[in-house]
Amino acid sequence: MDALLLKNIVCKGLVSDILIRGERIAEIRPAGSPYDDGAGVETVDCTGKTAVPGFVNMHTHAGMAMMRGIGEDIAFHEWIDRIWAVESGIDEEYVYHATKVACLEMIKTGTTTFNDHYWHMPSAYKAVSEMGLRSVLAYVICDRNDPAESERQRIQCQQMYEQSKTWQGPVTLAVAIHAIYSVSEPMILWAADFARRRGLPIHIHLSETRKEVEDCMALHGGMSPVEYLDGLGVLGPDVIAAHTLWLSDNDVRILGERGVTCVHNVNSNLKLSSGYRFLYNELRDAGANICLGTDGCASSNNLDMLETMKTSAMIQKAWRGDPSSMPLDELMAMATVNAAKALGLQIGRIEEGALADILIVDTDNYNFLSPGSFEANLVYSAHSDCVDSVICNGRFVMRNRTVPGEREILDQARKAMLALSPGL
Ligand SMILES: [Zn+2]
Repeated sequence: MDALLLKNIVCKGLVSDILIRGERIAEIRPAGSPYDDGAGVETVDCTGKTAVPGFVNMHTHAGMAMMRGIGEDIAFHEWIDRIWAVESGIDEEYVYHATKVACLEMIKTGTTTFNDHYWHMPSAYKAVSEMGLRSVLAYVICDRNDPAESERQRIQCQQMYEQSKTWQGPVTLAVAIHAIYSVSEPMILWAADFARRRGLPIHIHLSETRKEVEDCMALHGGMSPVEYLDGLGVLGPDVIAAHTLWLSDNDVRILGERGVTCVHNVNSNLKLSSGYRFLYNELRDAGANICLGTDGCASSNNLDMLETMKTSAMIQKAWRGDPSSMPLDELMAMATVNAAKALGLQIGRIEEGALADILIVDTDNYNFLSPGSFEANLVYSAHSDCVDSVICNGRFVMRNRTVPGEREILDQARKAMLALSPGL
C-alpha cells in the first residue's frame, strides 16, 4: 500500500477522512465525501477516534531508557556524578537496545519526534531507524576541560556529520554542548561555529540548577549562564536550551530577544529538586519559543509527554496562583507546533501538505465521555494508553496498541542490560 485513508476520524472537531500519500497528508475532507483515490489505498476505519498531531519531546536522552530508578533521592550534583560513572561503562550495544526501548515507550505514549542528546550516535541512529520515529540526534560535546578529549570530540563530531549525510528516513543531526560547566570555552565556541556553518541546531542544558548559576557567576565576573553564552555569541533562534529554570529578568529578556527555544522539563526538575518556578509567562511574553521535554529516564523515569503536559500546567498554575497560566491551546502548541518551529519541520499540525505524524486517539471511554473540550479530556483526564495507533512519516508504527516486535525488543534489551549491569 502506498497510501492510507483514515475514515471517519474526528479532526479539529469534524468527522473527516484523511488521505495520506507517502510521508505527507494529501487531503482532509468531510467524511463520506464522494471521491476516487485510485488503487493502492488502504482504508482504516477510525470511527470513534480522534486525530491528534504526534507529540514532540524536545529534550531527552533516549539511551537512558534502562536507567530508571538508579539515582533516587539524591541531590543533582551527586546524581550527575553517579550517572556519569554509569555511563562510562556502557557501550554501543547497550545504547542500541536502550534507544529501542525508549522508542517503544515513545510510540506507546504518543511521541512521534524526539530531540535527543546522547552518546554512541551510530547505535541510536540504527535503533531509531528500525523503529520508524522521527528524531534529531545531537552529537554531544562534553570535554570537561580536557584538551585530549576536546580533540577527540572535534574529530568524532566531524565524522558523525559526514556519516549523517548517508542517513535514511526522518533522522537528522544536531550538535549538543552538554552545559557550560562541563564544556570548556574554546569547545563551546567551536561547537557553536561547527553547527552554524552547517545549519544544525545547537542543543544545550542551560541554567538548570541554582548551583550552575552561582558557580558561573563566581567564575565569569558575575555573569549568569545566559549572559555568559550571549557574550560568546552562542544564543540565537537555532539554540534549543533545556531547563532554563533559574533566570534573572535580564536572562529572560536575552532569551526572548535572541528567539531561543526554551524546553521545560518539569518532571526531571521536580524530582531532582532543581526547582519548579519555570518562567513560562515571562519567557513567552519576551519572545522565547517554549517547548516541552521529559528529559532522560534516569531523572524523569518515563518519556510520557501527556504526563509532562499535565504536570507542567498544574505546577505553573499552582506556583503562580493563577489558573489562567499555561492554557490548553498553548500547552498543545508547546508539545507540537512550537517544536516544529524550533526544528524547522512541517510537523505538529494535521493539515494538507504537512508530514503525516498522527496519533489516533480512542475516545470511546470514560475519560472522554463529557461535553468538555477534547484537549482538556486528553491532557487532564486521559492517560497515554488512550493512544490507539500512531502514524509517523506516513507509516503506522503502532496499530491497536501493538508495536511490531515489542516482545523481542524487551527481551533483547534485558539481555544487553544484564550483560553490562552498568554501575549496578
Ligand atoms: Zn537532560
